[in-house]
Amino acid sequence: MSVLVSNFINGQVVQSQSGRSADLFNPANGDLRGQVQLSSADEALAAVTVAKQAQEAWQATPPLQRARVMFKFKALLEENADELATLISTEHGKVHSDALGELTRGLEVVEFSCGIPHLLKGEHSLNVGREIDSYSLMQPVGVCVGITPFNFPVMVPLWMIPVALACGNSFILKPSEKDPSVSLKLAELLKQAGLPDGVFNVIQGDKEVVDALLESPDVAAVSFVGSTPIAEAIYSKGSANGKRVQALGGAKNHLVVMPDADLEGATNAIMGAAYGAAGERCMAISVAVAVGDETADKLVAMLKEKVEALRVGPGLGVSPENEMGPLVSEPHMNKVTEYIQSGVDQGATLVVDGRGINTSALGYFVGGTLFDNVTPDMTIYNEEIFGPVLSVVRAKDYQQALQLINEHEFGNGTAIFTRDGDTARDFSEKVEIGMVGINVPIPVPMAFHSFGGWKRSIFGPLNVHGNDGVRFYTRMKTVTARWPKGQRESEFVMPTMK
Ligand code: NAD
Repeated sequence: MSVLVSNFINGQVVQSQSGRSADLFNPANGDLRGQVQLSSADEALAAVTVAKQAQEAWQATPPLQRARVMFKFKALLEENADELATLISTEHGKVHSDALGELTRGLEVVEFSCGIPHLLKGEHSLNVGREIDSYSLMQPVGVCVGITPFNFPVMVPLWMIPVALACGNSFILKPSEKDPSVSLKLAELLKQAGLPDGVFNVIQGDKEVVDALLESPDVAAVSFVGSTPIAEAIYSKGSANGKRVQALGGAKNHLVVMPDADLEGATNAIMGAAYGAAGERCMAISVAVAVGDETADKLVAMLKEKVEALRVGPGLGVSPENEMGPLVSEPHMNKVTEYIQSGVDQGATLVVDGRGINTSALGYFVGGTLFDNVTPDMTIYNEEIFGPVLSVVRAKDYQQALQLINEHEFGNGTAIFTRDGDTARDFSEKVEIGMVGINVPIPVPMAFHSFGGWKRSIFGPLNVHGNDGVRFYTRMKTVTARWPKGQRESEFVMPTMK
């Protein structure tokens, strides 16, 4: 049965009247699943009007009651975990257990938001001057917008939605048009959790909708996660229009393997970090920097064996479960295979070639691919491939490895595998990257910390979730107060007008 993915406005599924739509595919078999509607600018602005009206009463709702909605939402996400993960796998392609993992990481932000009464307490100083007190209020910003990528259709929206809502804002989600179905399920569960209509809305669409939201004077804050060129454009446009914007972009994450590392442990860690979700993770490891030729030779040999043994196939309905599913779309699959060819053309050593992998399914599959002898002048080193392609770069020593990472334009995540505390400490201090792992391959911060990169992996000063998320979705107001002397003595005569 063909699906038609529509909008969710003011507590109801509403069909767009724009007449525009995009095809939706199941990447595991290439089947046309249906369409997602591409809404018009006017429909986006109508959603803003709804969100603005609903926000007033929601802001006035005590934080504890807002937190209770989040508690119920968390329970509903857990109850519906299998359905949510199946929807993710069907449109994104990742294997079911990985989709459940994505849901868990999103759910943790909902849990964090349950503590919102504590997080919104602000500061208080007694006697900043004689008999003058000062205190801060953390007030919601108003209507917030989230524009999210295809690779985490639940986790990335949940980096934003629970924090924004718990802080007393309303929210409009513009999901990726590649895997939008699950956004409507999130909307349904929020409604079921008791969120008043209009506080959370979903608008499907493309640039037309995004531009309208960025231009609306009633939108206060925009959170974007996606590729760097779009992140940069959204940051510029949103900021120029007076909005606060956090725009998280692309990545090229390096993992350094020192000669003293536990090579077996490092190899296993690299396998999951490079090939999990077919490399379609902003924290995926796409470059392994082996320090010293001996380390590199051993690492490449160990990786080769494991990459060749990867179980690649559909993300659903296969037992035992595959380790890696398909890429999200046919154009993306073609782009990844072009990158592989460019690596060959530019002189890298293709150790395992994932092109033309033989799975019994007809979807958008590229097998695990491994390059050795990749150098910083190659396209496969400089650009984000967003596929199951790992490049091994050989560095002569630790300093060269560090310099490589610091000179790369992206700064999302990195990791070092070593047994030496001094090297690890130096690395964590000197590396110009936002999220650093020490013997941890994918150092995604937990919900109560904040997630964000450096350099061209983020535009805007505040990261998502954790304390930064609360700061992003609130405006601080500082009140300085002096009261006239009150009456402190009792009067025992009948009060009369004085
Ligand atoms: P994308 O930039 O193509 O799309 C992201 C969102 O922007 C989607 O909702 C899309 O509809 C919208 N969009 C696309 N073109 C637009 C335009 N011209 N104007 C306005 N909106 C537009 O990204 P994607 O392919 O969906 O996701 C993959 C990218 O996201 C990768 O680069 C990955 O590194 C990045 N990503 C980054 C993080 C992070 O935390 N830094 C997390 C997840 C994904």
